[in-house]
Amino acid sequence: MNIADSEKLAAGFTRLGLNETKTMDDATIVVINTCSIRQHAEDRAYSQLGRVRLQKEKRPDLKVAVMGCMVGPKTGDLKRRFPFVDTFARPQDFEPIIELIEGDENDLGGEFWPTTWSIPNGPTAYVPVVHGCDKFCTYCIVPYRRGRERSRPVNEIVREVNWLTNNGAREVTLLGQTVEAFGRDLNDSSEDSPDLGDLMRELSDLPELKRIRFLTSYPKHMTERILKAVADLPKVMECFSLPIQSGSDRILSEMRRGYELKEFREKINLVRSLMPDAGISTDIIVGYPGETEKDFQDSLDVLGEFRFDKVHIAAYSERPGTIAARTTTDDITAEEKSERLQRVEALSEQIGREKNEALLGSTQPVLIEGSRDDQFYGRTCSGKLVHIDVPVRIGEIVDVVIEHTGSYSLRGQPVDTLEALTI
Ligand code: SAH
Ligand code: SF4
Repeated sequence: MNIADSEKLAAGFTRLGLNETKTMDDATIVVINTCSIRQHAEDRAYSQLGRVRLQKEKRPDLKVAVMGCMVGPKTGDLKRRFPFVDTFARPQDFEPIIELIEGDENDLGGEFWPTTWSIPNGPTAYVPVVHGCDKFCTYCIVPYRRGRERSRPVNEIVREVNWLTNNGAREVTLLGQTVEAFGRDLNDSSEDSPDLGDLMRELSDLPELKRIRFLTSYPKHMTERILKAVADLPKVMECFSLPIQSGSDRILSEMRRGYELKEFREKINLVRSLMPDAGISTDIIVGYPGETEKDFQDSLDVLGEFRFDKVHIAAYSERPGTIAARTTTDDITAEEKSERLQRVEALSEQIGREKNEALLGSTQPVLIEGSRDDQFYGRTCSGKLVHIDVPVRIGEIVDVVIEHTGSYSLRGQPVDTLEALTI
C-alpha cells in the first residue's frame, strides 16, 4: 500500500512538472513515506530522517515532508522531535505536500486520488481497491492511521487498470488490508454491492491485462462466491496471502481477530478443494502478550498442519494507542521472542523447501518482471519467485522448466531455450 501511495505522489509531482533526482543533493523536495506497523519500521524512517536533517543543515531551502502511517491526527510530538520537517501528511493525504511545493491540486485534473495515475515501473503494478481497515485487531496500528474501510468504485478501478496496461503493465495486484471487504460499503445493501469476484470479472475483460493478483485475504470475508471467481477466471492467479497470526484460539481471541482456528481451517480447505495447486502464504506474530509456550506450540502445530508456501514472521511490537498497548503488558522478553521467531523460521524454511522441491522438473508459466545483474526474474501463478539465467523478454509469460529449488525461490530455463539446445 505504501509503494502504491509513493507512486501516486510521484505521479502527481510529474504532472506538476517536477523530475525525479537520483540523489538527495539535487532535490528541491524530499518526502519520506513511513510505515508504523512495527517499531523496526519506524526506526528505519528515523534513520532516513537523520540523513535528511544533515542535508537540510547544508541546504536550508530544501523542502522536507513526512507522510504515511507514522503521522497520526496529532503531530505535536513529531514536530518537536523533527523540527526541520516542513510538513507532515497522513496516509494518502497529499494536499499538504502539494501546498508545500506551491502546486495547485486542480492542475492534477481535479481530485488528486482518483485521476492521477503513475506510469508503471515494469510489467507489474499495485492498485489499492479498498482503503483503510475496520477490524481493529488489538495489536495493529493500521485502522488508526488509515481510517475506515472505503472501496473505490468499480468503473474508476477499471479505468485506472486500463490506463496502466496501456502503459506497459501486464499484471495488477489489487490491494486492501482485508481485500475481500471490497465493495461491501459501496451500496446501501450489501446484497446489491459488487464483490471482489465481480471486480475481477470486469478486469478480466481488459485484453492487455494478463494476470490479476490480490492481497491481503481475511478468512471471514472469503466467501465461496469470491473463491469460485478466483478458481474460474483464468487471469486471476491462485495465490493467497492469508495471515493466521496465531495457532492458539486463546491468543486469536485476545487479538480480536474475529475467527477461530476451526473457521480458518474450513476456509483453507475450501481454497484447496477448489484450487489444489493454490499458493498460500501467511503472517504470524510471535510473543503476543501472555503467549505461553503451549500457545506458541499451537502456532508451530498449525504451520505443520497447513504447510504454507511462505511465512512472514514478526515479533510482537507494542504500538502506542492500540487496544493491546492500552490493556496488556508486553511481557515476553526480547530473547524469548527472538527464540520463538527462529523456531518458526526454521520450520517454515523446511516446509518451504519441501514444497518447492515438489516443483522440480515441472514447467511453470512465469511472467518476467525484470532483471538484476544479468539475471531475469518473475513469478509463477502460485507466486513463487523464479530466476532465469538466459535473456527473456520482460513483460512476457514464458514457460520455464524448474531445474533448481530452494526454500525461497526457484531457478529454471525457458522451454524454448532447452528445445534449441537439444536440436
Ligand atoms: N491486514 C492484514 C495485515 C496487515 S499488517 C491482516 O489482517 O493480517 C501486516 C502484518 O504485520 C500482519 O499480518 C502482522 O503479522 C504484522 N503486524 C501488525 N501489527 C503488528 C505488531 N504490532 N507487532 C508485530 N507484528 C505486527
Ligand atoms: Fe490490522 Fe487486523 Fe486490519 Fe489487518 S485486519 S490491517 S491486522 S486491524
